[in-house]
Amino acid sequence: MEIQVIGVQGLPLIRKGDDLPALICDRVTFEDGDILTIASSVYSKAKGFTRDLATITPGADAVRIAAKTKEDPRFVQAVLDSSSDILLEHPFILSEVPSGHIGVRAGVDHSNIEDGRIIILPPDPMGAAAEIRDAIQRITKKDVRVIITDTCGRSFRRGQTGIAIGWAGMTAINDYRGDTDLFGHVLEITEEAVVDEIAAFANFVMGESHQGVPAVVFRNCRVWNGHDAVYFTPEEDIIRAALKKSKKD
Ligand code: GDP
Ligand code: MN
Ligand code: MN
Repeated sequence: MEIQVIGVQGLPLIRKGDDLPALICDRVTFEDGDILTIASSVYSKAKGFTRDLATITPGADAVRIAAKTKEDPRFVQAVLDSSSDILLEHPFILSEVPSGHIGVRAGVDHSNIEDGRIIILPPDPMGAAAEIRDAIQRITKKDVRVIITDTCGRSFRRGQTGIAIGWAGMTAINDYRGDTDLFGHVLEITEEAVVDEIAAFANFVMGESHQGVPAVVFRNCRVWNGHDAVYFTPEEDIIRAALKKSKKD
């Protein structure tokens, strides 16, 4: 069956308190098994995970880092507040957030929000995806899978892509280990990060600026099996260890 990709058109500017699942269900007729991707920025705006820069007093670390990154110290303070571990301070802050995701500036955004305000990532993105999935089940009686996305830079390559920061109704990874290839070789290492592949294409449909398409539905995607351990543990993450070492040197 052909996979269908449907950008959700006509959503308003999202404000704190908006019922995002209801707004989406008004504009899409869901089918069982659909995968709904939602930009973290609109989930955060609906839930009030935004901050007013004027209310933030930067501490000494924020002032010190901001001098190196040439950013607003209040913005840097917000990044530090969102971070559970700092891997790199400059030329940009690279940090881990409590969900395990590692991103530039902890995913704090100042686009697609009013001047002087910033959007922070949902603190519990897995819970957010589960909550949206449950809400859609209540409204439509359909069993929909959900991915919360963010636009993120990559190591080694220029350019940002969408990645999954939270998901519900599926595993992050399609685990091919133990499967055989076309020639009967047993696959030993292939773990496909399906949620990120779908998030990347969703991000393409959403665009990054004024398109106003923060939700995309994928229809007729197969079901897969695997696991959710998408984040390396600190012990197995060799890049993270190298960054930490260089930070100390
Ligand atoms: P992020 O990737 O989660 O940081 O989100 P972006 O800021 O890149 O926005 C992704 C998509 O959602 C783009 O098409 C934006 O124009 C759109 N978008 C962002 N905020 C809103 C909003 O409040 N309402 C609507 N309708 N679209 C929005
Ligand atoms: Mn973002
Ligand atoms: Mn984006």
